[in-house]
Amino acid sequence: MSESESENTARQSIDDEPSDHNVRIDEFTKVYRSGGEDVVAVENLNIDVRRGEFLVFVGPSGCGKTTTLRTVAGLEEATEGRIWIEGNDVTGKDPRERGIAMVFQNYALYPHMTVRENMSFPLRIRNYPDDKVDSRVEEAASLLSIDDLLERKPSELSGGQQQRVALGRAIVREPSVFLMDEPLSNLDAKLRVQMRTELNEIHKRVGKTTIYVTHDQAEAMTLGDRVVVLNDGKLQQIGPPQHLYDNPTNQFVAGFIGEPPMNFVPVDLRETANGYEAHADGLFTIDLPEQHVRAVDEWDGPLHSVTLGIRPEDLHDAESDGQRHGGTFEAFVKVVEPMGSDKFLTLTPPDGGIEFTARVVPNSNAAEDATISLSPNVDKIHLFDDDTGQNVTSK
Ligand code: ATP
Repeated sequence: MSESESENTARQSIDDEPSDHNVRIDEFTKVYRSGGEDVVAVENLNIDVRRGEFLVFVGPSGCGKTTTLRTVAGLEEATEGRIWIEGNDVTGKDPRERGIAMVFQNYALYPHMTVRENMSFPLRIRNYPDDKVDSRVEEAASLLSIDDLLERKPSELSGGQQQRVALGRAIVREPSVFLMDEPLSNLDAKLRVQMRTELNEIHKRVGKTTIYVTHDQAEAMTLGDRVVVLNDGKLQQIGPPQHLYDNPTNQFVAGFIGEPPMNFVPVDLRETANGYEAHADGLFTIDLPEQHVRAVDEWDGPLHSVTLGIRPEDLHDAESDGQRHGGTFEAFVKVVEPMGSDKFLTLTPPDGGIEFTARVVPNSNAAEDATISLSPNVDKIHLFDDDTGQNVTSK
């Protein structure tokens, strides 16, 4: 099996040496009983988390990310399945017996304690000797660049500094796994981006397995060694962020990963002398490139109807960009948003209909309420089977 194929299977690393796994989520299902009804929060999830990796769970609200993290932590009971940490079956074990440390959105530092006392607390309640407490706290403080804040109270710290103290409190325990649930969501947008970079650096230095939950796809892309996309309690895809971006396994992942999101256009696939063309009424007829023709021919199952996906950056302004990848087609420009590094165009077919987006070069002459000639990068298009949502063209 190729690496890309293996990333798409539900449990991709089952053949690894057991020592490569730090956490194993094994056939995990969680059903809540709510108002007399069963709510299936997570369904048959199988994931092996590799030692030292930064694994990010991402998905829309209610997809089951927090439930999964809380079950790994021991704060929720699995309805079915088992959780393994460091080769030990910890299902049913108390959170304190799991060798994990958690950092949550609500980092709840003790307001009456100094930073040093806050960070010492988890060690003190475990009766660590004073010299060990001091050395671990100072080491963590230096790692997080908060050495000079140790004698301050939380109210004398910025949001980012408070978040670092919360991380420090987890680090001093030297857990084998860090569990983080939206730890940056209380910070303002700029600080979030800065803390993202810092978290990356801290993770590299600490080198410990981290499972991180967020609903923010940009955070998932920038932080994760691998990203797990969940929807409606089910695993959609797991893999390195770029792999998910380039090869989404289905239309849900394609639409969820990437901002602005991928454009979707219903098309008719028509046979031609050399293969197929994708025809979108009133908009374009695109000859499918060879590898797409092969993918359609090799598709296992009927293809009743198809949706074409193309990312905004793969639609070029044919006039200013000079990147001609094949034919061109006309579209009507509704809105031009200059972003500095590029321009976002909101477009429709010339006679109206679905809206879609192009991300074109900043010197594009695209004008609102006028037509523009677009050149799609046909090698980058995706085709989705409308019956199953599966990506016919993903590698
Ligand atoms: P968010 O990003 O909004 O926190 P999430 O992906 O973390 O969402 P979960 O909190 O894991 O989602 O919830 C998954 C599903 O389980 C949702 O449908 C939710 O309503 C349901 N759920 C969660 N906790 C309970 C509970 N204690 N009782 C009943 N249903 C619950």
